[in-house]
Amino acid sequence: MEKTRTRFAPSPTGYMHIGNLRTAIFEYLIAKHDNGDFILRIEDTDQNRKVEGAFDFIYKTLSLCGFKIDEGPLNEGKYGPYVQSERLDLYKKYALELVEKGAAYYCFCSEERLERLREVASLNKQAFMYDGHCRNLTKEEIEEKLKNGEPYVIRQKMPKEGQTIIKDLVYGEVVIDNSVLEDQILLKSDGYPTYNFANVIDDHLMNITHVVRGKEYLDQTAKYNLLYDAFGWEKPVYAHVAMVLGEDGTKLSKRNGDASFMDLYNEGYLPEAIVNYLVLLGWSPESNQEMFTVDELIKEFNPKRISKSSSQYDVKKLNWFNANYIKKMKSDKYLELVLPFLKEAYDLSSKSSEWINHLVSIYQNHISYGKQIVDEVKLFFEDEVHPNEECLEFMKQDGIDNTISTFKNEILAITDWNVESISNAINNVKEKVGVKGKMLYMPIRIKVSGVMHGPELPDTIYLLGKDTVLNRLN
Ligand code: GLU
Repeated sequence: MEKTRTRFAPSPTGYMHIGNLRTAIFEYLIAKHDNGDFILRIEDTDQNRKVEGAFDFIYKTLSLCGFKIDEGPLNEGKYGPYVQSERLDLYKKYALELVEKGAAYYCFCSEERLERLREVASLNKQAFMYDGHCRNLTKEEIEEKLKNGEPYVIRQKMPKEGQTIIKDLVYGEVVIDNSVLEDQILLKSDGYPTYNFANVIDDHLMNITHVVRGKEYLDQTAKYNLLYDAFGWEKPVYAHVAMVLGEDGTKLSKRNGDASFMDLYNEGYLPEAIVNYLVLLGWSPESNQEMFTVDELIKEFNPKRISKSSSQYDVKKLNWFNANYIKKMKSDKYLELVLPFLKEAYDLSSKSSEWINHLVSIYQNHISYGKQIVDEVKLFFEDEVHPNEECLEFMKQDGIDNTISTFKNEILAITDWNVESISNAINNVKEKVGVKGKMLYMPIRIKVSGVMHGPELPDTIYLLGKDTVLNRLN
């Protein structure tokens, strides 16, 4: 049996949309499920979209996610080069072969002529479709124009009748009337191929067995199939995947919650949590299991379980996953995650590492992403507390002054400042004032921290330090 080979084929735009990353995840899992190869191919035929450093960025993203690239621009492989702009000769050769076979033709139409056609189409409220003007040029006419150095493109010659069937793992059989297929450009006048041509040539030459890509390419695949047929090549297995929509149900954009992988990473989301979250956007396992390591996913992944309907990006759900992963972190790794955010936000120079460790440890079960620690620990770095209305209302209740002044005396009496002595102090208040539960803890918490909810009270008090606590009690 032939080896499964999938490819991730991003354009080097310097931005990894989470939808793109999800495609990469699916491709990786399909390959590795079959012990196959995962190939990285850079699709840079649109040179205008190219961004400096985009390569590193793609490599960094995939490596953070724990995906090993078997072949790619910076990896060995016998099907290279893996960057489309370095393969221009190949595309030209195959385009000319199609012309030879009668499945493609030279088109010399000027930009002005095409512009006029577009205008007419728009006046008639029709979608523009090239009219096939150059389909039937004679051999002599073509030679003459080539000799005169007229610029040309090469177009695919679509059948006018009949239907083309696309077989897709997710969408089943899709039938397209050939009459709707435009004689699309395969090779542009600057010698670059279009995506529509290059993807077919490369997928074939690189022996790709499975192609996963966005559903927006599904209907286009009829054209690709006609190319495969014209060459007499075997088609890959296709799995088209529905879109990931934004939180408001429209296309993902910055406005409705789109975050690129790097944005999330830079906020302290863990790559393994992001991967775990994304794989479940549009794919489901057979069981109800939600938390998966990459190895478990490799075992479990079946592309037939990719959903036909679009899924919705939900930051709350992502936070839930990420919080779970943070909870499971070893304490040194967790410290590595949160410390840079703390250092950036606060002056830690007077704090001991014991204090810092203690501080961050009490939040490990409470934060959803690394950067969140900054807001959570604010009360330890501010001179004053900022109780809200609800806190102030609470503090108006009878008996609270007594609780607070008793507690203050207990604190003053502590000689050895540690969590245990503070716990004892709180217990003494309970005995002496005769209050318990909320009426015991809440007034103290509000007074010392300004908020109604937070980590364990004795730890909070310990970390604030005796002076700060006494100041706030006064
Ligand atoms: N370069 C294409 C894109 O970024 C890839 C589509 C494909 O995987 O075939 O959308």
